[in-house]
Amino acid sequence: LYGKPITINNTETFASVPFVIRDGGKTFAEQGIENAGGTKLFSISGHVERPGNYEVPLGTPFAKLLEMAGGMKNGKKLKAVIPGGSSAPVLPADIMMACNMDYDSIAKAGSMLGSGAVIVMDEDVCMVKALERLSYFYHEESCGQCTPCREGTGWLYRIVHRIASGKGKPEDLELLDSIGNNMAGRTICALADAAVFPVRSFTKHFRHEFEHYIKHGKPAKEHKWC
Ligand code: SF4
Repeated sequence: LYGKPITINNTETFASVPFVIRDGGKTFAEQGIENAGGTKLFSISGHVERPGNYEVPLGTPFAKLLEMAGGMKNGKKLKAVIPGGSSAPVLPADIMMACNMDYDSIAKAGSMLGSGAVIVMDEDVCMVKALERLSYFYHEESCGQCTPCREGTGWLYRIVHRIASGKGKPEDLELLDSIGNNMAGRTICALADAAVFPVRSFTKHFRHEFEHYIKHGKPAKEHKWC
């Protein structure tokens, strides 16, 4: 934007070009904050009143974005948010409500802005079941070229599925961690990392739910979204 070569490779970038040509890169950048100029499109899905695409300046507080999306569906409490697409680490409500939607703020909070696909989860979500669904997706998506990804995504899914089926073993959380360590950064593309991030973050922030499920074979409370 400032005379340096750049790669234009997605429609969101293309959509910014007319504004930049008309009003200049500086004006565009000034809409955001230092280190994160301009606006970003967020696709908000999940338990909000008005899911959809929202374009806001980078650095907008998450609380404001949630408000734009109509707030929590049916007045439920916010439980967690995946701020940048399903591979981005999940963050608990209190962290997200204090966080701004820009690259540095989300990274500091322990996740990624990624694709801007914001998944909002309410208090009725069972985090074990949610992780089971995510792990199944990455297992299905692995193309199978790299052994750590081909085998690892299957192992991750089967272990989370075992826990979610009430047959988890006390050593399962450590096992998930160990498998993740042997996958992340050891494959051709980023899919293996994408499969590991949700596992690590769900079991870190919502460990008590996994531990309860393993110990009792069922969640602490019946969740609507199980
Ligand atoms: S890491 Fe990428 S290339 Fe390797 S098996 Fe997984 S999806 Fe295929």
